[in-house]
Amino acid sequence: MKKIFAANWKLQKTPAQAKEFCETFRAQLVAHTYFWDHKEVFIFPQNFSLDTVIHATNDTPVFVGPQNIHFEKSGAFTGENSAAFAKDMGAKTILLGHSERRQFFGETNEALNKKVKLCQELDLLPVFCIGETLAQREANETEKVCFEQLTQSLNGIDKSKRMIVAYEPVWAIGTGKVATVAQVKEIHEKLYHKMSDLNFTNFQLLYGGSVKPDNAQELLQVPHVDGFLIGGAALEVDSFMKICSH
Ligand code: PEP
Repeated sequence: MKKIFAANWKLQKTPAQAKEFCETFRAQLVAHTYFWDHKEVFIFPQNFSLDTVIHATNDTPVFVGPQNIHFEKSGAFTGENSAAFAKDMGAKTILLGHSERRQFFGETNEALNKKVKLCQELDLLPVFCIGETLAQREANETEKVCFEQLTQSLNGIDKSKRMIVAYEPVWAIGTGKVATVAQVKEIHEKLYHKMSDLNFTNFQLLYGGSVKPDNAQELLQVPHVDGFLIGGAALEVDSFMKICSH
């Protein structure tokens, strides 16, 4: 199975900076058949840079998409972004349920369920984030919280369609605190079985949270870790390439 490397640029990189990143990345990899035979790369730019990234990578297999969408395709929703419009621009994927969306913008499992369904309707591949806060981990609620996020947000969807789930402990995002191999192993094992019990037949599990070039290799060896969702270390071509090279 191909390993997945997904870059979440958050509210960073202007179109010019995004173009520069993609041109450098593309120049090193566009003709690298071995790389593309073994890896999948996703980039989630800020929406104003989306078109630039789609065009700058259009001769590569990179999956590009927004970091959030509204659950309706169109209508009176001032300030929102449409998955249908993203698809029309050439997007192939959508990042959903990132903890910053849940934490700062009140995104609920119920709203996410509608968003996942819309992605499936439009044939856009969801990269769906779950994860517990530090307080939840300390209260031994990691499994309960992650399972609730999965069951509530993925309820009633087509389980034969491809689905990528990114486990990101909130306390490890942008903090430099990486979950230990033992912690990742334990939860990924449980998530794998939960997804199978829920009858998902085509899914991959990512780990995210302070992944860097120097910890990528050991984390990628953990069973049921099919790749990474990467924030800070995906902002520079060099460190992103180093992680992708594992
Ligand atoms: C993220 O934003 O999804 C993330 C994992 O960030 P970082 O790699 O910076 O912790």
